Amino acid sequence: MMAPALAVIVALMAQPAAPPPAALPVPELPAAMGRSISAERLSADVATLASFGTRHTLSAEQDPRRGIGAARQWIFDQFVAAGCKAVAFDAHTVPKGPRLPDGATVVNVMAVVGGTDPAQADRLYYVVGHYDSRNADAMDAVGEAPGANDNASGAALVLELARAVAAHPLPATVVFLASAGEEQGLVGARRHAEEAASKGAKILAVLNSDIVGDPSPRGGDRTVVRVFSEALPKTLGVEALAALRAAGAETDGPSRQLARFVDDVARLHSMDVRARVVYRADRFLRGGDHSAFNDNGFAAVRFTASAEDYSRQHANVTERDGRPYGDVPAFVDGAYLAGVARLNLATLVHLARAPGAPERVRLVADALGNDTTLRWAAVPGADGYEVVWRETTDWRWTHAADAGNATSLTLPLSKDDLFFGVRSYTRAGYRSPVVFAGAGRQ
Ligand SMILES: [Zn+2]
Repeated sequence: MMAPALAVIVALMAQPAAPPPAALPVPELPAAMGRSISAERLSADVATLASFGTRHTLSAEQDPRRGIGAARQWIFDQFVAAGCKAVAFDAHTVPKGPRLPDGATVVNVMAVVGGTDPAQADRLYYVVGHYDSRNADAMDAVGEAPGANDNASGAALVLELARAVAAHPLPATVVFLASAGEEQGLVGARRHAEEAASKGAKILAVLNSDIVGDPSPRGGDRTVVRVFSEALPKTLGVEALAALRAAGAETDGPSRQLARFVDDVARLHSMDVRARVVYRADRFLRGGDHSAFNDNGFAAVRFTASAEDYSRQHANVTERDGRPYGDVPAFVDGAYLAGVARLNLATLVHLARAPGAPERVRLVADALGNDTTLRWAAVPGADGYEVVWRETTDWRWTHAADAGNATSLTLPLSKDDLFFGVRSYTRAGYRSPVVFAGAGRQ
């Protein structure tokens, strides 16, 4: 006769356990790519962008040394020198608006590095940073506006990643977008995203870096970058929203999964700058170009330094202690910016080398029961799929089970008590972002 306590323990141990996660290697990031990110070059590029005096969207377009025209030509030339084959001025005629009293032609600079796998090349991943700047007066198109941290830092990151990816192209396509008109209401990115949406472009993730060079203010941490994401897409219809409310999935939209993906990549590679995931679309009283992509139905996140000094941001350049004070290059930390760039690059490599995320992911809720069955549709290029789950109160996925190359898996876990999702993987160890499993009847 077994003692009652021991019988309970044996019974617990006999419960069917969920299968373990897929036994995948930690994929090596191409060493040459990682090493190619240079703090010195990032700092030099920030200084060059600041040297155009102002990059206000309405500043001089014809002056070869000062104003947004000179800046965008320099960015264009950098993309070409990086070896990007498709480099273009992405110009949009924007009508009158609150910060564009006469309307304007707003010119983004973009470069495309095509995917090397013809079956994956239609998948687009975006690296975005606005290159326009402003000072204390959003309408001052002539005064000094060096915009070193906001956002020469992000534009320099875009250029540095373009150099790395052009030298080592990825299976999926990467679009590098230095956007204009951000300070005038996100107009450059918004027009670009609207056009992409109207053409049905398959933009699967947007990594927007804005204010990523200066973590020095009080509370700042040189080992952390904040990653902001919206909870749910604005573009969801009433029925889809009702289903997500019923499933308790208010914090599991595609942009949230992307933010968690960035965090996973930072942990996997023990990166110098890791993600502080913030469950909020952006900071208070501020906006960014990721929102222009979000508003058009695309998953997008914003990288921003761990803390900000509002006395320098959008400020007129003055002097303190005999030195220039404001958003000047002296406050940008090249080593930190390089850390943020490496996290962006690693995220991009994982996204572009992973298969596309599984489709039609659902949790089968056709009967009451204590098991959970997940189903999904296969995607090209996937060697297998993992089901992931977490407590409903956890912020990140904590558990995974390997489903092999099946398209369904039943787990001895209660669907009522946990959140579930599915991701695809390759044998080399690249995993896609997770797709949340909403309830389905079959
Ligand atoms: Zn900005």
